Amino acid sequence: NCKNADDVLKAVRDYNVSFVQFWFIDILGTLKSFQVTPNELEAAFEEGMGFDGSSILGFTRIEESDMVAIPDPTTFQMVSWRPTERPVARMFCDIKLPDMTPYENDSRYVLKKVIAKAAEKGYTFYVGPELEFFVFGNSRKPDPLDVGGYFDAPPLDLGNDIRREIIFALQRMGVQVEYSHHEVAPSQHEIDLRYNEGLLMADIAITYRVVAKEVARKHGAYVSFMPKPIFGQNGSGMHVHQSLFKNGRNAFFDPKDPNGLSGECKSYIAGLLKHAKEFCCVTNQWVNSYKRLVPGYEAPVYIAWAQRNRSALIRVPMYKPGKEAATRIELRNPDPAANPYLCFAVQLAAGLKGIEEGYELGPAVEKNIFAFTEKDMDTHGIEALPGDLYTAAKTLEASELMKETLGESLHRNLVENKLAEWDEYRTHVSEYEINRYLPVL
Ligand code: GLN
Ligand code: MG
Ligand code: MG
Ligand code: MG
Repeated sequence: NCKNADDVLKAVRDYNVSFVQFWFIDILGTLKSFQVTPNELEAAFEEGMGFDGSSILGFTRIEESDMVAIPDPTTFQMVSWRPTERPVARMFCDIKLPDMTPYENDSRYVLKKVIAKAAEKGYTFYVGPELEFFVFGNSRKPDPLDVGGYFDAPPLDLGNDIRREIIFALQRMGVQVEYSHHEVAPSQHEIDLRYNEGLLMADIAITYRVVAKEVARKHGAYVSFMPKPIFGQNGSGMHVHQSLFKNGRNAFFDPKDPNGLSGECKSYIAGLLKHAKEFCCVTNQWVNSYKRLVPGYEAPVYIAWAQRNRSALIRVPMYKPGKEAATRIELRNPDPAANPYLCFAVQLAAGLKGIEEGYELGPAVEKNIFAFTEKDMDTHGIEALPGDLYTAAKTLEASELMKETLGESLHRNLVENKLAEWDEYRTHVSEYEINRYLPVL
């Protein structure tokens, strides 16, 4: 575990590292990488490595396109799917302008800003995401490799083998895995990570996605984080468990409350509920994301919180006496195809807003909301998440909190990109329409 540039330079010599990959991401969370030889490394730590930002999605600047990637030495790790002889390593980078000021469209910077804001109030933000994914035979068709279901144990199939190997590959990169299991849908899996500090966890989520894809590829299989690949089956979510700590104590915990929840926790939940429609376009950023957020598949549709009920947007795992550290809340709408940095940033911002403004939390809804009628919804004052990417993008566009959190430029770029995606989708003639209309019209 490296703490500074010197540690990295030493590790590169000691392990005879052949290349160091510099990793960063575009505004949609797609991983970008370039290779640096060990000779260049010392200079890269001092001056960064220059690159042309104009070809990176969401990085376009009108004035000029020179940008600099500065590697973060604490993220140095050997890339676990490469040979161990003359290994390849990687570091995440912060993106700066040539004058070394942070670049406003760098998602890592956006998350750092919100985390710093939490830190000003004495809070440390912890997250534990549950990334679900499918393992398919190839990237062209969602053909399941198995017929397993929730928690199904072997007969061992290729999917289980791949899942086990992904875990080993993650562990070799310093990621702590808690448990893993087959998910509800055929060929669907989940690997759960030990909760960690927000920025570190966003880096880990990116690592998780690459490792999973690389390991599957070695087996001639394909891992997909697409939110809803198969109609009629559960989609893939990324439930985000989260809590705030203050002075080493869990600020969400209050032993005097019957449910063990502090006032801060309740206001934080209220913040997530109030701003969920505004941040949905970030946590669920694709046309396909909204095919998952429909009733009947354990994915949330309605904006409510509960303690047992998994149809609610926010679930508070039942309080266990003496389990202070485990007190947390689970936001269930995000999907694993989100940009993890922005995804965590908008949640934290919404929760903090709730605390700042002292939002009141309404009652929990323990009934199955999927079975509610329109009238039930009205009497309980329950609203729905945006039903499609268009609604989500327009709601994001109008949100002051999101503009402030993402920064004006990234906010605008993201909205524009998402409205363009919607337009492309909207005007496309789909297989559904051909099947449905051509024979009868
Ligand atoms: N796959 C479900 C979702 O889309 C969650 C299923 C579960 O974890 N119980 O969120
Ligand atoms: Mg789970
Ligand atoms: Mg799950
Ligand atoms: Mg969960």
